[in-house]
Amino acid sequence: MFRLIYAPGDGIGPEIGDIALNILEYQLKKYGVQYEITEILFGGCAVDAYGVPLRSVDTSVVKNSDAVLLGAVGGPAWDGVDPSVRPEKGLLTLRKECDAYANFRPARVYACLKNASPLKDRITDKGIDIMIVRELSSGIYFGERAEGENEAYDTEYYSRAQIERIIRKGFECAQTRGKKLCLVDKANVLATSRLWRRIMAELSAGYPDVEASAMYVDNAAMQLASAPYKFDTVVTSNLFGDILSDEAAVITGSIGLLPSASIGKVDIYEPIHGSAPDIAGTGKADPVGMILSAAMLLRYRLGLPEAAAEIERAVENALEYGYRTPDIAPAGNYTDKIIICTTAQMGEAISDALRQ
Ligand code: NAD
Repeated sequence: MFRLIYAPGDGIGPEIGDIALNILEYQLKKYGVQYEITEILFGGCAVDAYGVPLRSVDTSVVKNSDAVLLGAVGGPAWDGVDPSVRPEKGLLTLRKECDAYANFRPARVYACLKNASPLKDRITDKGIDIMIVRELSSGIYFGERAEGENEAYDTEYYSRAQIERIIRKGFECAQTRGKKLCLVDKANVLATSRLWRRIMAELSAGYPDVEASAMYVDNAAMQLASAPYKFDTVVTSNLFGDILSDEAAVITGSIGLLPSASIGKVDIYEPIHGSAPDIAGTGKADPVGMILSAAMLLRYRLGLPEAAAEIERAVENALEYGYRTPDIAPAGNYTDKIIICTTAQMGEAISDALRQ
């Protein structure tokens, strides 16, 4: 039995979440997956109802589940609440309780949306489809630190076990994609990076079908902007992954398009954006990132790559047909057939494409 927690959250979360959940359920039924769904109040809506962003009873429910499908949390309505019960605090608790250690962030430029990308056509025409696999549970954000008046330090720490499990995830992911894995590090300076390189070299023997390489992070940051088509799957530390995944996101044109998966004991699938309070309730939210998060769940948690690919193709078909929420609508005059649409219309277009 696949146990799913649905946490739509705040702002545009429920608008895009309900659409993604419907599409996910359609695929679960089609592929004969036995499942149960528990919906929880999480984030600002839970602060309003219970006084806390995540009740301990709901934490237990989450810990006994397989995956969480999460919308987004937060917004100005909760800016004034006690910092210990802010919606974002609930997000940190959720991630900790799920023991998520691998963050998957794809960045893809659709041919029909290349004008939304800030990159030139001569770059996007070569096809951009990158997966950044970021270590999430360790590194400099969790290492020992001290902060004084005149000096401060942070520590980058990684154990062999932590590196091995994330690099294995990188290889496994590359096997399902373009079969190229690039380790991004700073091995010319950092001892931790050199350990990552040694472990990558050891493990690569077990994945002879994947071409393994390594690149310094400064070079990778430049190449992501100048030649992103060279990358397939990237594996990297927590800090470098944090920065590079946002750089990769920006080249796709809209954060509304991008999904993510955080894999651990319990997986979390969510779009990369926040609750977009500025457009909540207006029908302008792009549901694509949320829908593609559901596709990632099918691929990475349930091992149903074809079910995931069907959703991804349906998204592509709707975009190619011309459906555009305002975030990806072309500016000014355009000659192509374009249908500026609402959140619900985009959801329907994708659902229809899936059912065909
Ligand atoms: P945001 O990602 O919510 O919005 C940034 C901009 O992108 C806004 O202009 C918004 O309208 C637009 N946008 C975001 N998602 C979109 C979509 N699907 N379709 C179309 N446009 C979209 O970031 P923010 O405004 O800095 O944060 C708003 C709230 O969300 C804050 O309370 C923040 O703490 C929270 N937040 C939550 C998460 C999460 O739940 N994982 C992540 C980031 C921010």
